[in-house]
Amino acid sequence: MQKIKEAQEKKTPAQLRKETMSLSIKEGSMASVAGGLLRLLGNCPNCNAEDEITKTPDSRKTNDPLYGLSVRCGGCGRVWEDWIKLILSERTEGKELIPVQVIRPIPTHVYLAFPYDNIPYRKAIISVLNSALMAKFGLEVAFCCEGGLIKYSPRHGYEIRNFDEDKIGLWFEEGIEEASVPVFDFYEKIMRQLFEEPMQFKDLKLRRGEILRMGKEATETDASIYLFCAITKTAGKKFAEKVLLTKQKNDRNPFTASHISGLTQEDIKRFFIPRPPYHSD
Ligand SMILES: [Zn+2]
Repeated sequence: MQKIKEAQEKKTPAQLRKETMSLSIKEGSMASVAGGLLRLLGNCPNCNAEDEITKTPDSRKTNDPLYGLSVRCGGCGRVWEDWIKLILSERTEGKELIPVQVIRPIPTHVYLAFPYDNIPYRKAIISVLNSALMAKFGLEVAFCCEGGLIKYSPRHGYEIRNFDEDKIGLWFEEGIEEASVPVFDFYEKIMRQLFEEPMQFKDLKLRRGEILRMGKEATETDASIYLFCAITKTAGKKFAEKVLLTKQKNDRNPFTASHISGLTQEDIKRFFIPRPPYHSD
């Protein structure tokens, strides 16, 4: 992770923007992006207010995080014209601002736009969120070339995929399959809770996107706590318990565990490409 961070720091704003643009364009027309507000998690360099920097009203005409780059602190009102430059200049001071936005450009695409290449415990997040979809919609693991889930039904069967690379999200390959839209609605709700909203459980106070701010000392158990808090907030404690059981069942099944958390190219080769036949002579 440190390596990735160092590589990122060396990039100029123009390079970073170009890369991010190509990433977004790949996901479809950005003119119609729907979703939450881009927010920079961390302290305002001017007034130290926490998590108050969001897009300015001017740059909210579209929810696309890369059109209209100006951001404003809700605490002191200071405006910066380019949030990518702001992040990079804060980094030179050793301070971190984490850009966060859940995006739903079409009904059957939902994903976390940023950060996109250094999410701690990404696999654990995907695995728990997929277990939530299995518990709620009776989905099963899809034995396709990537992490994904499938609904077997003579009338409304569909297959949905997890984004590969370093993203967290869900997509349906062939346009919009109406029957799968509620799955995306639910996924979006949990994602918004997990990445965009603060949470409180008795004495446990979780800031917005706490799971993205975990330091080196954090463990997978910490990640699980944040995940199950978000699921409980979204759909109740009973449902969260059902998700936990689903997750445990998946983890015990070595054939499904790697699938529901997303396969890498290496995994695919290892699991599915047949070895040369054995010659006994
Ligand atoms: Zn401020």
